[in-house]
Amino acid sequence: MLRVGEGIRAMTGQKTIVIGAGIIGCSLARALAVAGENVVVLDSARVGAGASGASFGWINASFHADKAHFRLRHAGIAAWHQLEADRGALPIHWGGAFCWEEQGAAMARTGDALGQLGYGVETVTRAQLQRRLPGLGCLPEHALHFPEEGVADVSAVTRELAQDAASMGARFVTGVAADAICESRGRITGVRTAQGEIAADRVVLAAGCGAAALAEAMGVALPMLSRPGLLTVTRPVAPVLDTVLVTEGGEIRQLADGRIMMPTSAGHQGDSANAITEPPLEIAEAALGRIRRYFPRLSLNMEEVALAWRPVPGDGLPVVGAAGPEGLYLSVLHSGVTLAAVVAELAVREMLEGPRSDLLGPYHPARFQ
Ligand SMILES: Cc1cc2nc3c(=O)[nH]c(=O)nc-3n(C[C@H](O)[C@H](O)[C@H](O)COP(=O)(O)OP(=O)(O)OC[C@H]3O[C@@H](n4cnc5c(N)ncnc54)[C@H](O)[C@@H]3O)c2cc1C
Repeated sequence: MLRVGEGIRAMTGQKTIVIGAGIIGCSLARALAVAGENVVVLDSARVGAGASGASFGWINASFHADKAHFRLRHAGIAAWHQLEADRGALPIHWGGAFCWEEQGAAMARTGDALGQLGYGVETVTRAQLQRRLPGLGCLPEHALHFPEEGVADVSAVTRELAQDAASMGARFVTGVAADAICESRGRITGVRTAQGEIAADRVVLAAGCGAAALAEAMGVALPMLSRPGLLTVTRPVAPVLDTVLVTEGGEIRQLADGRIMMPTSAGHQGDSANAITEPPLEIAEAALGRIRRYFPRLSLNMEEVALAWRPVPGDGLPVVGAAGPEGLYLSVLHSGVTLAAVVAELAVREMLEGPRSDLLGPYHPARFQ
């Protein structure tokens, strides 16, 4: 596995431009730098300015589309642990999650299915939940407990990964947009910006919601869904919650600084609204009302409501792999917090050694071409 400051090979001379300095671009930049690549990261804004700066940050495999997606997400959890073992702890809290989005037979089916996949899951009773989280009101009869899950402070993790990459020679160019990817005779030659062209042998497109326009200009189809998300954040309160709650009214977590956070749409990562048309403050007040139901003893005030677009490819699944001219590699996905570490590791292996990963196979961009 890749370690900061250790076993770094001499620069290969291959120059890679990573477009996008979110959690995906910074994870890839780090893994490329560890592998000895000469890396430039280009972002039209700054590190962590996109979806990664407005994310709920839940790392989980309990939500998944199918078995292959579960395997990738489960490997995603393992990859974060491996990364932390290799470079030191990141701002990730492994406090598990309690889920009562469903009740009765539906909850039992979800629990059984996850158990059969080899996932850590147990059913807890109201009394057990009460003992575990004494500040919690409005308790369900039963909940599923997923002890393997965690939450990241996504902005801080992204910054640390960027710093790792920089410490191994990666250079960051921020406030500069990639206007086009350049190629000649079927090979990548660089990236065009309003400030001039930057030459490269490889371009990794990790620009989140900004990726489709750049890919499509290269003749690479990258259909994307419009999936806005609003994140409601309270002012800090005393510590009451060291785990994720997946309630029937949405997910709740508390950040290390005491602020409580809830994405405002009820259906978590499968949310299908393609526009938010109500005033954000009204949506946030409704979210705050739902948080108050679970924490009736807290005096909660809203600090911020943040609107951001989730980078969700057309079929809802990650798009990771080579496409178009030689040297172009795409990495565009939702649940990027869950998947950043594993995608970076597998993608860099594919870039350097060829596409051999069973885990990434279903997510190659070829499915849209
Ligand atoms: C409200 C919300 C809640 C979420 N909750 C979770 C969760 O609980 N768990 C989970 O796993 N995932 C969650 N996600 C999804 C997750 O945050 C994203 O999948 C992840 O942040 C994507 O990272 P990224 O680096 O691909 O994209 P981004 O963070 O969006 O970064 C892309 C970067 O590319 C730059 N860029 C774009 N176009 C260009 C260009 N032309 N030139 C140069 N730079 C460009 C942007 O400035 C940006 O910095 C959530 C997302 C949202 C919005």
